[in-house]
Amino acid sequence: MKPTHIEHIGIAVKNLDEAIKYYQDVLGLECYNIEEVADQKVKTAFFQVGQTKIELLESTDPEGTIAKFIEKRGEGVHHIAFAMEDVATALNEAADKGVQLIDKAPRKGAENLMIGFLHPKSTKGVLTEFCGKK
Ligand code: ZN
Repeated sequence: MKPTHIEHIGIAVKNLDEAIKYYQDVLGLECYNIEEVADQKVKTAFFQVGQTKIELLESTDPEGTIAKFIEKRGEGVHHIAFAMEDVATALNEAADKGVQLIDKAPRKGAENLMIGFLHPKSTKGVLTEFCGKK
């Protein structure tokens, strides 16, 4: 397994519109996509920075994982996503190396990409996502 680059950094925010404004007005980035992922109870906004994206995440449900994350730790970096050629194979390889998985098999994420998460207990505290076309 070898990630080709950091696909995106996921950032938990309380208010998507306010956060978008910061990235646009202060950093001069352009939000090119806003998408609700019902499955994950989030609304997402994307910015491209070189090969990497910033993915802002606002919870659409007070019981959602992003709402709970903000309640516990406040707004901020939520996860890092590595671009993988083949998410299923990467997840299997990580499991073989003793990593605890949140997703045993890839599922559909934002932007029509397949995603899978590794448990932060196994990744030195960083919620880690694998992300790819298959
Ligand atoms: Zn993500």
